[in-house]
Amino acid sequence: MSQSFHAMWASLRPLGRSDASGGYRRYAWTGADADCRLWFRMQAEARRLDVETDRNGNQWAWLGDPAAGDAVVTGSHLDSVPDGGAFDGPLGVVSAFAALDELRARGASFKRPLAIVNFGDEEGARFGLACVGSRLTSGQLTKEKAYELRDADGISLPQAMEAAGYDPDAIGPDPERLARIGAFVELHVEQGRALDLSGDSVGIASAIWPHGRWRFDFRGEANHAGTTRLVDRHDPMLTYAETVLAARTEAALAGAVATFGKVAVEPNGVNAIPSLVRGWLDSRAADQATLDTVVTAIEKAARERADKDGVDLAVVRESFTPVVEFEHALRDEINRILGGSVPVLGTGAGHDAGILSASVPTAMLFVRNPTGVSHSPLEFAPEDDCVAGVLALADVLEGLACH
Ligand SMILES: [Zn+2]
Repeated sequence: MSQSFHAMWASLRPLGRSDASGGYRRYAWTGADADCRLWFRMQAEARRLDVETDRNGNQWAWLGDPAAGDAVVTGSHLDSVPDGGAFDGPLGVVSAFAALDELRARGASFKRPLAIVNFGDEEGARFGLACVGSRLTSGQLTKEKAYELRDADGISLPQAMEAAGYDPDAIGPDPERLARIGAFVELHVEQGRALDLSGDSVGIASAIWPHGRWRFDFRGEANHAGTTRLVDRHDPMLTYAETVLAARTEAALAGAVATFGKVAVEPNGVNAIPSLVRGWLDSRAADQATLDTVVTAIEKAARERADKDGVDLAVVRESFTPVVEFEHALRDEINRILGGSVPVLGTGAGHDAGILSASVPTAMLFVRNPTGVSHSPLEFAPEDDCVAGVLALADVLEGLACH
């Protein structure tokens, strides 16, 4: 099994990789995406699986009759963020094929259909919306909204699909497909250090934290950086700076995370006091009440400082995703299959599994990431842990599909 894991990893490694950065640029419906899709097809065919691409561009490789129902499905995605790492997504797909190899080596016989899936456009790197393939399938993204998506060059999602040889007219909800799935288990590299800190190779997801994005507009008064006395200024940069520090403090107090990762300044001149500073806050917490508390406290701190600075503040919530609690029965079943002492952990990152969990029983396995770095060329999981992940996934699939 570890040999097949190696071979798959080696063949996938060069696809969509930038020589300049060492990171991956596997964006939806590009040449790199087509290369990954061909790779998936070849892996599936080499294992005598039936490959199909659904109406939303997700690839499925079937062992057994897809129409029989109650299928056990595993897999993840092969696309990447800009200059992403090798593991986020591909580890789940490679591990799925490797787990099947392991089960065949064990002589397992399947009582339920098994499918390996590669969800399209999970990262949303090109069109700005994550999990497009699974959102369309589950009906959480309508065809009309999907048609409005545009990339940085103004190319629409349907145009991009068509250029890649797919029929964009067919996209939309696929309840019949979801009705055939009895359980979906996504293996994913951990995007934090919880497993490293607990000393475990593999963990089980409890929930995906609720998260939201808020835009803070700080409006002050543009003026000359050389001639305006400090006491006469209405400088929104000061208010913004205090707000960034407050976000850090409040998140730490609540055990949450809060980040100002994007900022725009007007007029954006070296020798001008800004008239406007616009900052975007991303915040996530284990539960909604905590998240509300954190964001309310950050806003309060921002308003207090704005009053001092003579600055106007407007706060707009731009997006919000409620908590996703993975099904307890499947989670407990998986923990039992794995011996009962696997750590159960929450995550602040979104996944196709989170989207699917609204429609089918869904679970996730995480594989240790010693540095916690993700969405970067430095993202890494040691080989021993990857192999442990494959064996755990094989055990889970065997427990669910073979008994
Ligand atoms: Zn991912």
